[in-house]
Amino acid sequence: MNTQQIIKLIQTDNLNKFYKGRDWRRLRIIALIRDNHECQQCKREGKVHVDSIKVEGERKSVELNVHHKYEIELYPQLALVLDNLETLCLNCHNKMHNRVFGATKQKKWDDEKW
Ligand SMILES: [Zn+2]
Ligand SMILES: [Zn+2]
Repeated sequence: MNTQQIIKLIQTDNLNKFYKGRDWRRLRIIALIRDNHECQQCKREGKVHVDSIKVEGERKSVELNVHHKYEIELYPQLALVLDNLETLCLNCHNKMHNRVFGATKQKKWDDEKW
């Protein structure tokens, strides 16, 4: 998949095809291995590494996402660049996006959350 194709998917609102594609799935795994299957944000915050949590006596693995530091929509040329990828747990990933989108779309986030 090349940048032109990715731009086309963005324009036609079909980015899910990118995420289902072989190129992304392969790169995603490389990113996970590089990051040791650890959430990079939790790591930065000095939290203990967990790759599973105990829920009602059962061990469940934490869902890990591979995040684009520079969003695909704005930087399609970085969609398949390993340096632009970062492993995040679901929790941090949601926070990351609230922060990013909150900062651009609405401005009231900063007094409350920081
Ligand atoms: Zn995390
Ligand atoms: Zn993301």
